[in-house]
Amino acid sequence: ERKQLHRLRREPSRTLDGVDIRVYANAESRADVAEAHALGAAGVGLYRTEFLFMGPQLPDEDAQFRAYRDVALGMTGRTVTIRTLDIGADKADRTGLALSDEPNPALGLRGVRLSLARAGIFEAQMRAIVRASGYGPIRVLVPMVSSRDEVVAVAALLRRVRRDLVSEGHEIAEHIPLGAMIEVPAAAIALPGFIDAVDFLSVGTNDLIQYLLAADRNNEALGELYTPLHPALLRLLESVIRIARRRGRPVAVCGEMAGDARFAPLLLALGLEEFSLHPGTLLELRHAIRACDLGILRARAPALLRARDRAGIEKWLRANTPADT
Ligand code: PEP
Ligand code: MG
Repeated sequence: ERKQLHRLRREPSRTLDGVDIRVYANAESRADVAEAHALGAAGVGLYRTEFLFMGPQLPDEDAQFRAYRDVALGMTGRTVTIRTLDIGADKADRTGLALSDEPNPALGLRGVRLSLARAGIFEAQMRAIVRASGYGPIRVLVPMVSSRDEVVAVAALLRRVRRDLVSEGHEIAEHIPLGAMIEVPAAAIALPGFIDAVDFLSVGTNDLIQYLLAADRNNEALGELYTPLHPALLRLLESVIRIARRRGRPVAVCGEMAGDARFAPLLLALGLEEFSLHPGTLLELRHAIRACDLGILRARAPALLRARDRAGIEKWLRANTPADT
């Protein structure tokens, strides 16, 4: 079976009824980027920049520029989505950037909140990303967005940084798409009010589940209370995907849920046509997608959304999982 999956490296992620699904890779190292490229990923859908900040010293603009440029070069013209710093006291942090004594780190000054509070560090990162756009198609993805104001502030910074770099003589891309992560329920619910301010969306189900279900993503004691198989999550996903599609904004899911091939029929039924996942399970997902009929699954979305509990969702999944996956 391994060998059979291996053969899928050069095959498209195309459904039985001929729809090409875009399968991107999540990456946080050179090895991930090389693997993503070798497996035929559509691009990097989530480049986590945190690991650059894990050392005792902050990376300066040039060090970051070299790292982002190398990802762009490594992907040879495929899209690279660089997420701005998503550090908080709930994620490993040895830089001292994040506040260490927050009572509720997951609800604290993390992600874009921290970036906007540390203007110098944020500007250096944005300059590094924009400079890298001269070496391949790059998109900027903002984590932990909870309001329109945050998106507007980042868009303004991006514009200013672009102007500065052009006047300093740097060669940068004409257009650098700006995207928001949808991982705070408020952003999902308020999406119609700020979707005009972004070019694309990426749903971070790891955090979205945590905040939606009030269930810590790292607390094993919660067992199945932390689960993607909750009707509230499916309804929210359906709504985000529908709004994004209607407004012509590409939308991906980049949380662990997208990397679990068992959930592919469910996500396709909800209208998702872009996935981003760790390269380690990319071929499994491609295999699952190739066994799905998108038209049939889309027609069965109403039944999925009527499921009242985990058991109902699992029953739908059993009935709609292709036999050979
Ligand atoms: C997520 O929250 O789903 C996500 C992709 O980001 P991270 O796991 O880095 O928080
Ligand atoms: Mg997240």
